[in-house]
Amino acid sequence: MYIIMLGAPGTGKGTVGGLLSKELNIPHISSGEIFRNYIKKHNELGKEIEKYISEGKLVPDELAIKLIEKRLEEKDTENGAILDGFPRTKNQATVLDEFFKNKNKKINIAVDLSLPDEEIIDRIVKRRTCPNTECREIYNMDFKPPKVEGICDKCGTKLIQRIDDNEETVKQRLKTYHELSEGLIKYYKKQDILYTVKLNNKSDLTTKDVVEEIKAYLNKDSIK
Ligand code: AMP
Repeated sequence: MYIIMLGAPGTGKGTVGGLLSKELNIPHISSGEIFRNYIKKHNELGKEIEKYISEGKLVPDELAIKLIEKRLEEKDTENGAILDGFPRTKNQATVLDEFFKNKNKKINIAVDLSLPDEEIIDRIVKRRTCPNTECREIYNMDFKPPKVEGICDKCGTKLIQRIDDNEETVKQRLKTYHELSEGLIKYYKKQDILYTVKLNNKSDLTTKDVVEEIKAYLNKDSIK
C-alpha cells in the first residue's frame, strides 16, 4: 500500500504518517527529513539543499525527485510506503506515478490534512522536534510539551527548533504550499484517491483518531 500525505507544513503529516507507518508496518518516508539528513553531512549537496530550505523555498524538482526515487529503490519499500512531503508539485506527482507504473505499482490514497493558516503558524512556531532519526517525536509547547523542558520524553535527546520553523519562513512555506497544493489536490481528486481530513486546533481530534479515520477508509473494499 502506497500512501501520500498531503497537507501544509504543520498539519501533522509527520505525526500521522509515523503512526500509520507503525500500524501498517510500512516505512515512513519524509522528504524534508531526507533533505535535513543531507544537510547534516555538510558536503556540497547538503549546502545546496540548505540554501533552499533555510529560505523556505522548495528544493528544485529534479534534485528532489532524484533523492526520493533513490530512497524508493530501497528494499524495505517493496510492499508499500508512506510518503510525507513528496510530491509537492504536479510535476513531482506525474513523475512519481510513472515511477510506480514502471514497477506495476500504484498510489492507493492521497490523504489531505487541512488546517487554517493562522492555526498552522501558531503550531509551527511552537513546534519542537526530536532530531534523533530513530525517534523523531514532535512536541508542541502549548498542547504537547515534553515532561522535562527541552528534552525528548521518549529517548532523552535534546529537542531542537528546526531552522525553518520560524514565523517568517513559515509564511513563505505556506505561500509556496498554497500556490502548488491546489493543482496537486485536483490531480489526486481526478484519480479518485483523495481523502480529506478537516482539522482545527480547538477540536479534540487526536492523532490516533485521524489515523483510525484513515485506516477505516483504507479498509473500504473500493480502494483495496
Ligand atoms: P517538510 O519537513 O516536509 O516541512 O520539508 C522541509 C523543507 O524541505 C521544505 O520547506 C522544502 O524546502 C523541502 N522539501 C521537502 N519536500 C520537498 C519536495 N517534495 N520538493 C521540494 N522541496 C521539498
